[in-house]
Amino acid sequence: MKVESVHTHILDHVLDTTFESASMHFARRQHCLVEIVCDNGLIGWGECLGPAKPNAAVVEAYAAALVGQDPLQTERIWLELYNRLRDQGQRGLTVTALSGIDIALWDIKGKHFGASISMLLGGRFRDSVRAYATGSFRREGVDRVEDISREVAGYRQQGFHAVKIKIGFDVEEDLRVIEAVRESIGPDMRLMIDANHGYDYLEAVEVGRRAAHFGVDWFEEPVLPEHISAYRAVRADQPIPVAGGETWHGRYAMLEPLSIRAVDILQPDICGVGGFTEIRRVADMAAMHGVRLVPHVWGTAVCLAASLQFMAAMLPNPPRRNPIEPILEFDRTENPFRQAVVQTPIEHDQGVVRIPDGPGLGIEINRDALRQFALKET
Ligand SMILES: [Mg+2]
Repeated sequence: MKVESVHTHILDHVLDTTFESASMHFARRQHCLVEIVCDNGLIGWGECLGPAKPNAAVVEAYAAALVGQDPLQTERIWLELYNRLRDQGQRGLTVTALSGIDIALWDIKGKHFGASISMLLGGRFRDSVRAYATGSFRREGVDRVEDISREVAGYRQQGFHAVKIKIGFDVEEDLRVIEAVRESIGPDMRLMIDANHGYDYLEAVEVGRRAAHFGVDWFEEPVLPEHISAYRAVRADQPIPVAGGETWHGRYAMLEPLSIRAVDILQPDICGVGGFTEIRRVADMAAMHGVRLVPHVWGTAVCLAASLQFMAAMLPNPPRRNPIEPILEFDRTENPFRQAVVQTPIEHDQGVVRIPDGPGLGIEINRDALRQFALKET
């Protein structure tokens, strides 16, 4: 079996209502899927985290080196592609693009052997995971406190056990939002806050100290991702556990945060950190440092399926009878192609998501949706 061709699919949707995190304004949703076709007809799918067009360009740059290769040799291919751009591309788009390729190759491997990727990774410790709702971005033209309070009440009604809200805009307003959200969801639902690196160290410490009594499970990306020592300082100087890692791509980017213990929770994204091949190494590194790993997830059902296959195989940690179970980030913002790209949507039932057990990623792609949401502009 050999790789015959590599294709990218840029999906695009103009949002009805724009929204923003502290670091990004969303007027449309765009994601890049990777399709790898083999000479025997097997096809694998992957997805890249981050800006779709640049990701597609890098995937296309890798494609010539991929055609003709045995797709089962995932480790060899990963290293060869990484080496091609290593001198200028140890992090960022070179790794996010490689992630989409690696996921597609593992999908092919699973289909070839007739096994789910989680089985190929060593077996399934779980067949379902609890999901947490990610949403609560800032929207223009509405009262933010009221808007988000209403939104999170909906997640509670839908059965989610946890919700993550967006902060990082303004200390006082953010604290009013956190207070209102806790009031809205009641005392038992878990709450996480995500600043998308909108604060500096002093703001982050102030928010952490003043928000802790509202019961916050983790404080995500409090400061800029380049400021690893500031992460550690925030972690030391306020009481909420600190999380981060969605912008750290490749295992080397994880080394410093782990070795100086800058985070309590590491959040690699399988579509950004380097696919199955690399996230396994990162998971081992986190475990060796005694740092909890909760994957970051932001994309289509392809990304969800990849994350779920990995989560099925995550080692129980600690290895006791009732280990701490990984929880799935479940994006609730507007994205009509998120589930449309697969024949069977990956949905939740009362906040619980079943992990597909079919070959590879366990999904069937809906090509009508790829055509419907294909980027029209050039
Ligand atoms: Mg985040």
